[in-house]
Amino acid sequence: MFSGFLDLPWWGLVLVTLALTHVTIAAVTIFLHRHQAHRALDLGPLPAHFFRLWLWLSTGMVTKEWAAIHRKHHAKCETADDPHSPQVLGINRVLWGGVFLYVKESRNRETIERYGHGTPDDWIERTLYTPWQKSGIVLMLAIDMALFGVVPGALIWGVQMVWIPFWAAGVINGIGHYWGYRNFACSDASTNIVPWGILIGGEELHNNHHTYATSAKLSNKWYEFDIGWMYIRILEMLGQARVKKVAPTPKLGGLRPVVDVDTLQAVITHRYDVLAKYLKSARQVATEEFARLKLDAAESRLFRRLLKDDVATLQARLGSVLVKSERLNLVVALRAELEALWARSTASHEQLVAQLQDWVARAESSGIAQLEEFSLRLRRYAV
Ligand SMILES: [Zn+2]
Ligand SMILES: [Zn+2]
Repeated sequence: MFSGFLDLPWWGLVLVTLALTHVTIAAVTIFLHRHQAHRALDLGPLPAHFFRLWLWLSTGMVTKEWAAIHRKHHAKCETADDPHSPQVLGINRVLWGGVFLYVKESRNRETIERYGHGTPDDWIERTLYTPWQKSGIVLMLAIDMALFGVVPGALIWGVQMVWIPFWAAGVINGIGHYWGYRNFACSDASTNIVPWGILIGGEELHNNHHTYATSAKLSNKWYEFDIGWMYIRILEMLGQARVKKVAPTPKLGGLRPVVDVDTLQAVITHRYDVLAKYLKSARQVATEEFARLKLDAAESRLFRRLLKDDVATLQARLGSVLVKSERLNLVVALRAELEALWARSTASHEQLVAQLQDWVARAESSGIAQLEEFSLRLRRYAV
């Protein structure tokens, strides 16, 4: 009397659980995150309605609340107003209690009204999904028990219920702003957790996402894989999705004889690639220079890390090293000046072009091969 319609062995139940939770992950990353919060793609009515129904059944989350809280996270990233920054609140609080931070923010009406625009407001949203927010998960429990039996069904349901609170609110929001590698030195602390975005649907590539927030594709390097993007491409082939934006691929043209406003525009457009390539050259210079001056290897590692993420701390902590080397000083100064080109400032276009011309002249007359090479590449960026 306790068995369900499907009589599965234990491993069958494990596979079913993984499949069900994976559908939920796909719904979160494709529908809530990329489609609703960032408008990176359009979805056909079939997948859109399926994802909404599935999220109601398996998470009890309201689309407007999710999109609003997430947009606020991007707008206020790593500040006291960020709903879930591990840099502000501590990693343990976000990793293990991220769901409570989400629930708390969902009660902040100002957040929901200010950031929740453009989310579904149709008949089914107003009469079922929003007012009966928690009924879907009760229905899911009944379905699980009917299909798999009372005890296995309850266990599967339990895993479904903790899946998103742990993996999304905990791991992505916590670890994705704390541990991992960074492809891009964007202004927040976001990290790529692992290069293979499978378990959390591609959301593992969180540094790529924060750098190009409106891109429907989260992978960026050849060795990175984003399973959410694979599903989007399949939906597109079926005519059920339309990608609106992906991260720009760096475009290089012929060497420009003069650095002008077009060069400036191209550098600003491809700024994350410019910075990543500059850091690569700068790290080579640093490695050589630390070896030449027989400086501490630990300081060399610290130098390279801070050069990427925090120049001010580098100058404060490695002042004694900087006074010993003109080359390291130049590398640090050029890094800061490069970023100043696209930081929002009051400088006019003419002033910025003059700054870029000066930058190129100094790099090319530095006598440092890597900087000269980099500068020649910089002059080839095209819009
Ligand atoms: Zn984030
Ligand atoms: Zn996002």
